[in-house]
Parts: sequence; structure tokens; C-alpha cells
Amino acid sequence: MYDKKLQTPLQFLKGVGEKRATLFAEELNIASYEDLLHYYPFRYLDRSRFYTINEITAAPTLVQIKGRFISSQIIGTGNKRRLSAIYKDATGQIECVWFKGIDYFYKQIKQGVDYVLFGKPTVFGKRLNFTHPEIETLSEYLKKNTAPFTPIYPLTEKVKKFRVTANTIQNLTRELLILLKDQIDDHFLENFRKEYNLMPLYDALYHVHFPENMNILNKARFRLKFDELFFIQLSILKAKQNREAEVKGIIFNTVGSKLHTFYNNYLPFELTNAQKRVIKEMRENMKSGRQMNRLLQGDVGSGKTLVALMLAFITSDNNYQCALMAPTEILAQQHFKSLKEMVGDMPFEIDLLTGSIKTKARRGIHERLKTGQTNLIIGTHALIEKDVEFHKLGLVIIDEQHRFGVAQRARLWKKSIQPPHVMVMTATPIPRTLALTVHGDLDSSVIDELPPGRKPIHTRHVYENKRKQVYEFMQQQIAAGRQIYVVFPLIQESEKLDFQNLEEGYERIIKAFPPPNYKTVMVHGQMKSDEKEEKMLAFARNEAQIMVATTVIEVGVNVPNASVMVIESAQRFGLSQLHQLRGRVGRGASQSYCILMSPYEISKNTRQRLDIMTQTNDGFIIAEEDMKLRGPGNIDGTQQSGDPYDFKIASLTQDQAILMLARRAANAILNEDSELTDAKYEKIKQQLKKRHPKEIDWRQVS
Ligand code: ADP
Ligand code: MG
Repeated sequence: MYDKKLQTPLQFLKGVGEKRATLFAEELNIASYEDLLHYYPFRYLDRSRFYTINEITAAPTLVQIKGRFISSQIIGTGNKRRLSAIYKDATGQIECVWFKGIDYFYKQIKQGVDYVLFGKPTVFGKRLNFTHPEIETLSEYLKKNTAPFTPIYPLTEKVKKFRVTANTIQNLTRELLILLKDQIDDHFLENFRKEYNLMPLYDALYHVHFPENMNILNKARFRLKFDELFFIQLSILKAKQNREAEVKGIIFNTVGSKLHTFYNNYLPFELTNAQKRVIKEMRENMKSGRQMNRLLQGDVGSGKTLVALMLAFITSDNNYQCALMAPTEILAQQHFKSLKEMVGDMPFEIDLLTGSIKTKARRGIHERLKTGQTNLIIGTHALIEKDVEFHKLGLVIIDEQHRFGVAQRARLWKKSIQPPHVMVMTATPIPRTLALTVHGDLDSSVIDELPPGRKPIHTRHVYENKRKQVYEFMQQQIAAGRQIYVVFPLIQESEKLDFQNLEEGYERIIKAFPPPNYKTVMVHGQMKSDEKEEKMLAFARNEAQIMVATTVIEVGVNVPNASVMVIESAQRFGLSQLHQLRGRVGRGASQSYCILMSPYEISKNTRQRLDIMTQTNDGFIIAEEDMKLRGPGNIDGTQQSGDPYDFKIASLTQDQAILMLARRAANAILNEDSELTDAKYEKIKQQLKKRHPKEIDWRQVS
């Protein structure tokens, strides 16, 4: 009943009418009573306190100050004409300026009277400036009896033209809240609310729109954030539970000879404890009868590929085939080569299948796959083409997963009668909150340790006018036998411009490092893949000391002798991309360096990004910081790893603690009553259906 009322079209609310209803629906996405209730303020003005002038800092915040004008005069002519008035309190003074309504305000402003000013002052050095402040006399202000917290709602230009203000929204919301009083049915019963410290729903809705103080506002927001996060977690965990109940996992119960032979006789170094632990986690999973759907996180260089190989042995020891899917041809080739090398003369068949393999060879590989001769197939998208058939596919490993779409993964899935185990390796760590929402239905394994002997990379941020010093440093490194990457940004929208940058950069390098003493190769995305490959190989064989490249080298390339990564126009890269690029060095025994070049003028946000890079090598920290700076929707610039939920109030960057609590609550309920059949969960069940009606068929997704 409550629900029906909430679905009432907005136009039936007193004071709305047809025209406004259309405007609200089109511009603000508010079509029903419910939409309006959940149209939360995104900010609140705290008018409960006065600032003193000496408290005003460079950060542009809205402030309210109390004082008097000590002078006012009209100065300048033409479009420079303005009113300038000096305003003062006990702690200092500020210049107020009007470019509009000059004569009106000139008459208005009286000296010897207390005024309240409100707005966003600016600071230039020591000078404070206040352009077009809101002004009223203190006595007017006191009469007005304003609520101390004024909510600010997101409004579009168009609705503002129709004179819709925050006040309009507030009045309508007030109307609605009165109408719905005692009719809002809380889906959380009292016991549950007590357990998780949640305000009743009606109260939360009321106080989020009309908070009396900060404390009550925080409690209201907590409740509403919890709601959002809880139902997402409940739907994710429920879907996971359903999948586990329906899908039987292939059982790998043999610990066979291949794994042992490799481990005892071929592995050139000891596994790190973290590698051992994650392999064990996965082995337990794969012999349990539950299908594995697991995310493997580990920083660049933490040795994820080796873990993949060990799992391929386990798969093969159980008479199944393993597929390793990489996002690019180069990476697939590199995996193929390095794994083949490691495996040596062991009886373990590895094949490579990529787009550039010729038809005849391809047919042969198809045949070997189908008959089961191939133990491990490494490939790109070519692996998911229709004509690829497996004998018995037991495990699919996806490397650098953010580049694969969900649909593509599903296609690989269908290549087996019984669903194979799936392991997804991420290129860089994912912030915890994202891992729990975007990948919340996957189990997770984390490699939190690098192989021993790695020297932390030294990173410095250098302005472009110091390029000469950078070149000198490069010369020293080359003289010491090292190799160097110089990377330029490549952003799709302006490919031409970037290409020009790259070519200019290449010319500059050639000039500073002239042949035949120096050899430089260039690699970029517009080259044919065999040409690219040839250049990369030349660099890997140490036939060139410098590689000038775009981000095509971002993923996976492994040249241990390369010890310097110079990143040009570093301001144009995202944090995780910078971290990925830096991960190309520091793979050998010598000390490695990363140099971030940028112009002198960069934004504050960019400076923060570059600072983080110079402060830490830890990919987990970088991932968190990246999300804080860019927001969850943008990590890696791909939508897929971003925020898939349309949060109205919760935030993946700020509400990690609430997210954890909500997940715990969801888990507790499912553990107690997996089908939510108990009457006390009836309302939760209804909410779940309402909020997340289309449960994705998760078996197809991961
Ligand atoms: P990533 O996790 O970035 O994919 P890789 O699997 O490419 O890392 O490993 C990086 C390098 O570290 C490779 O050269 C690999 O052979 C080496 N490596 C992996 N595990 C170990 C280990 N336990 N001890 C020493 N070196 C290792
Ligand atoms: Mg890798």
C-alpha cells in the first residue's frame, strides 16, 4: 500500500501541476513521489556559525561573516565601473566588489550598521576579495529565523530558468513528508535497526531534507547509505549463492605428477609465501565441488603469471585443459614464450592462438585443442571465436581482466558442457570497495608480497625545462649498460596530435642520442603488429638502448635490463596507468628509476597524483588514492571496472566502513535464512526485488 502511494505521479502533489511535473521528470528524473523523497541534497550550507575574517583561507568555501562597512565608493568607468566597499570585523577586513547593481548597492550600504555577508570569498596572497556577496542587515537576518542547515539540491540550468530553487524542492518535499507521515513502512524491523544502529526510515528521509544539526544529519545519511549498500550486497551475495547451488564445479582432486615435477625440477626460484598461499586457496576451491570464480589481485611484478602456470599444471594433472586469455597479441606472445621456456622439455603442451596466426597453422591448433593434445592454450580474442572447440576445458584464466568485456568472458564459458573454473587476474590492484561491489560475487585471492631482492623504484617528478638534466642522467645509465623507456601519452580522441608529440619526441631523442653511438627504436599503436613485435624484440635483445613508445608497452612487457622509465606529459596519465608503466622497470637486479615529466603549470589534482607516485610503490595504496581523486567510475578509464551502480547517496570512496557493515548484515541474513522465507524478512525480500529486479544470470557473467 505504501508502495502504491509512493508511485503516485508527482503532478498530483500540491503545488506541482502538469507543467512542472514534466519539467521535473525531464530535467531531474523526478517522476513520482518516491523519486522526490529520494532526491537528496548533495550539500548543506552550514549557516549555524559565523566565520571571522581571519579564518578565511584560500580554499573556496561558502562562509558567513558578521561585521560593518567602513567605506564604499564607485570606481572606474565603462565596463570597468564597479562598487568597492571595505567590510570589517574584529579580526580583519575584506574588499567587497559589485559589477552589477552598482548604484543599488551603493545606496543600500550604510556605515555603522551590522551586516551579515554570505558567499564565497577569494584570496590573492594576503588580499581578501568578496565579489557579489549576499548581504542583509543583522536585524533582517535575525528576523528570518532560517534553518541552520540549508540543503543544496542539484539543479539544472533549465529548471533554474523556470524559477525552481532549492527552496522549491524543499517546500515540495515538506509537503510530501507531511502527506506520508505514519505511512512510510520501514523494511527493517526494530531489532535489525538496533543491531546496526539505524534510524527509522521516515526519520532518515525527514532529516536528510531538514536536518537540525550535524549529528542528526549524519545519522540520517548513514541510514540511507546503509540501505543502498545493503541491498546491493544482498543481491550480489544471493546471486553468488544461487550460482553455487546450481552449478556443480569440476572436481580437481588429483595432485599429480606435472605439478610436482615442475615444482621440484624446473622452477628456477622459490615461490613467495603469498604465491603459495593463493595457489593453495585455489586448489582447495577447485577440489571442493564448487565452481571457482575468483579474482587474483597482485601488484605489477608480483608473479601472477607463475601462479597461472601452476594452476595449468593442476588442471592438466586432472586431465583437463587450461586456457589463458590475454588482452593483446604482444602479451599473449610474451606469455607463450616465457612459459614455454619455463616448462622446458617437460611433457606439457602449450599452444598459442592469436589473430595473426595463419589459417593452416590455426587449423592444426584447432585440431590439437579438440583432440586434447594441447594442455595449455594461450591466446587473445581468437580463443573465443566460434570454431574453437576444446576437448575438456577445465580452467579459464583471464589476464589483465579490465580489458575484457563481460560478454566476451561469457563466450569462453560456453565452450564447455560443464562450466570450467574461472580465475581473473587484474592488472593492478582494485580498491577494496570496488572489489566488493563490482566483483563482489567473486572470491578473492591476494598476492601481497613481491619476489625477494626487488629494489624499490626511485620516482621523481621533473619539470620539462629540466630535460637536459634528464638526458644527462639517461646517458649515465646507458653508459652503465642499462636500457631506457621513454613513453608518450596516447589518447584516442586526439590521436593525430599525440602522434605528432610522439614523432617530435623521437626526433628530440635522436638529436640528443645520435646514432651510431646510440640506438633508439620507436613503437606505437598504429604500427602493424609484426613491425611492433620486431622493434620490441630488438629492444629485448638489447640491440637498442632506448625505446620511444606510446602506452602500447603498458601491459606485460618484460625487459629486466631496462632500468629507467621516462614518462613524458605525465600529467595526462591516470594514476593506475602511471603505476603500470613504472612496473615495466625494476624487474632486474639494478636500481631502477621512474621520471615523471610535466610542464610547470599543472592542476592541483594532477600534482597530487604525481606526488603519490613519488611517495609510494604500493599498488594497493595507489588504487585507493586513484579512486579518491577520480571517483570510482573512472578507474582505468574503463566503465567496466568502474561503478556499476547508480548511487544516490552512498559513495564507494567514502563509505567503506558502511559497505563492510552492510555486507556483514547481508551475509548474516543469508546464512540464517538463505531464501528469506522467514516472515521477519518479508519486507527485505520485497525491497530486494524492487531495487534489484533483474538478477543478472551470473553464470553467464563470470
Ligand atoms: P605480474 O604479476 O605483473 O604478472 P609476472 O608474473 O610477470 O608479474 O612476474 C614478474 C617477474 O617476476 C617475472 O620475471 C617472473 O619470472 C618473476 N617471478 C615470479 N615469481 C617469482 C618468485 N617467486 N621469485 C623470483 N622471481 C619471480
Ligand atoms: Mg602480468
